[in-house]
Amino acid sequence: MTAFDDLYAANAKYAETFGESGLTGRAARGLAVVTCMDSRIDPLGLLGLQPGDAKILRNAGARVTDDVLRTLVLAVYLLGVERVLVMPHTDCGMTKVTDADVHDLTSARGVDTRSLEFHTVPDQGEALRHDLTRIRTTPFLPDDMPVTGAIYDVRTGRLTPVGD
Ligand SMILES: [Zn+2]
Repeated sequence: MTAFDDLYAANAKYAETFGESGLTGRAARGLAVVTCMDSRIDPLGLLGLQPGDAKILRNAGARVTDDVLRTLVLAVYLLGVERVLVMPHTDCGMTKVTDADVHDLTSARGVDTRSLEFHTVPDQGEALRHDLTRIRTTPFLPDDMPVTGAIYDVRTGRLTPVGD
């Protein structure tokens, strides 16, 4: 018994009926979505997408970090991405704590996380505008690439566009 047996068993069943799609690694719908790791979000389902359609970038809080920018550069120049949606969500855990709170919580477990930045979100609207600006103004991505933001409501399933 390992901690992952359930997953390998599920995969064996999955592979039994897996149909090779002929998809490439390019984003068929030319889309990248930056969203949160929250387990309630089904990015493909809520946007009417299928596997192969989009690059999905996930982290805590849907933040545009250096690593997200690095990944977007690769997605745009190598993998067919032509537009980017940044999609945080309601009831996000990252809006409920500060970096200092996280350091305190980990410290209570004997772990010093002060060398990490958690990019917690005191104001979701402000954080989203900041992150959209980061993508729009980076010298590494095309100036005319459509970039927008929307908040996903985990209770209703609806997206509210934020745009700028
Ligand atoms: Zn979240």
